[in-house]
Amino acid sequence: MSEPQDGELNVTDHSRDSAGLTYVYPVVSRRAGGVSVGINLNVNNACNWRCIYCQVPQLIRGAPPPVDLLLLERELSGFLRAVLHGDFLATRVPAEARRLNDIALSGNGEPTSAREFGEVVDLIGRIRRDLAVSDAVKTVLITNGSLMHRGAVQSAVRAMAALSGEVWFKIDRATDSGMRRINSTRSSMARVRTNLEIAARACPTWIQTCVFAIDGEAPDRAEREAYLDLLRESLKSGLPLKGVLLYGLARPSLQPEAGRLRALPSDWLESFANEIRTLGLPVRVSP
Ligand code: SF4
Repeated sequence: MSEPQDGELNVTDHSRDSAGLTYVYPVVSRRAGGVSVGINLNVNNACNWRCIYCQVPQLIRGAPPPVDLLLLERELSGFLRAVLHGDFLATRVPAEARRLNDIALSGNGEPTSAREFGEVVDLIGRIRRDLAVSDAVKTVLITNGSLMHRGAVQSAVRAMAALSGEVWFKIDRATDSGMRRINSTRSSMARVRTNLEIAARACPTWIQTCVFAIDGEAPDRAEREAYLDLLRESLKSGLPLKGVLLYGLARPSLQPEAGRLRALPSDWLESFANEIRTLGLPVRVSP
């Protein structure tokens, strides 16, 4: 990676206000070698979960305020125009990342908790068509999956499939107690199984998993076995999973537990990735 020039975004600039917009922000991804155009619907930093490794500042429980769809449409189409037809890539992005990778529904909370989530997906589809965005550019939903059972969310996720859609479905632990500990949610593994099935049958779906040590302890054998069992069962039932995105603790948590969390050595991640690969699933590791 070359040194950032004046005004360039670098791979560590993940702040949501780097473009000075309300909903839309660019992220330069080292792993993907390109630019992701992020959409943050949770402008109030509210999520229905509270993961102890979450990097959202001043995270609160809840849902986003009503989305200003006109403003979002203006920001997204204006920003994509600048990326595709303007000088944004040439003037703001290091040479090795000058391509558009994806449009990502991500941000500072759970995107599917926005009441307007379906309209947002429709809006992305309209803009993609107007600007003739290539099918190679994915529309990615980064989600904790907890609301996938809602009819409106399912319809929107099905609509995403026609927009080169991908769902990145968060499963950090595969036991009820592990989820309570890591994600501070009372959601159950039964719900996770149901919602994962809904997502994977509606749109190509990757599982995204973050692993780290708490108080010096990596996820124990029982947790890892529960996770592998979940994958095994899903594959056995014919669920068309794309694979697993396995993350380490790349950036510090902004939650009160931050001081208790440590990144695991990359060989730990690789060894866990290899266990997953033996089930026949592709794994992408980001230490
Ligand atoms: S689901 Fe995502 S945004 Fe919500 S608390 Fe967890 S890491 Fe943070």
